[in-house]
Amino acid sequence: MCGIVGYIGYREAWPIVLKGLKRLEYRGYDSAGIALMNNSGQHIYKKAGKVAVLEEFAESQDRSGSVGMGHTRWATHGVPSDRNSHPHTSNNDKLSIIHNGIIENYATLKEELIQRGHEFKSDTDTEVLIHLIEDIQEKTNVDLVEAVRIALNEVVGAYAIVIVSQDHPDMMIAAKKSSPLVIGLGEKDEYYIASDATPIIEHTNKVVYLNDEEITVVRRDGTFEIRS
Ligand code: GLU
Repeated sequence: MCGIVGYIGYREAWPIVLKGLKRLEYRGYDSAGIALMNNSGQHIYKKAGKVAVLEEFAESQDRSGSVGMGHTRWATHGVPSDRNSHPHTSNNDKLSIIHNGIIENYATLKEELIQRGHEFKSDTDTEVLIHLIEDIQEKTNVDLVEAVRIALNEVVGAYAIVIVSQDHPDMMIAAKKSSPLVIGLGEKDEYYIASDATPIIEHTNKVVYLNDEEITVVRRDGTFEIRS
């Protein structure tokens, strides 16, 4: 299980998330990736290797946006590679996820989703979860947070996840089970999310440790909601 850093607020997310990933390097990892949301949509950069490799790779890319999430991966399912690095996207690419942990029943879920027309872009257990969330949303017409809740009830395993959606660029969804996740409440309307407090403490000392099986929604308007 490796590192998670997220930011939503009024500042540029890239430098905050990148620095946060560097702070988590002490945990060890094999790949790194960041998703950013800005006016032109979602931008995902991910590379096998060190955070410095990702940093160099993205230097000439669009790194603007005040919503971002980053991950350092320690591969459990799928070799360390660019395509297996997180974030992973759903079938229509609108949703993306970063995940620490293992989805133990991913193979069964993946088989069902393939039969329903989903095409997978990686060999990870993680990608199955974001496709499942999209599938539930399409099948049942529930809102995204509810789709996340239903999907997590179908999943066996351990997770700390953060999800962003192109259709909801002003919010981030986070959830956990048997894998830690911390929310930091910044100045004015901004939130940090991380797998431990290390990347957050330089920004704020107001932190909330999430409980297992709670789903948290943080919004750019400053609202913070917990659903269970
Ligand atoms: N099981 C996931 C993967 O292999 C997440 C690994 C992690 O916790 O970094 O991609």
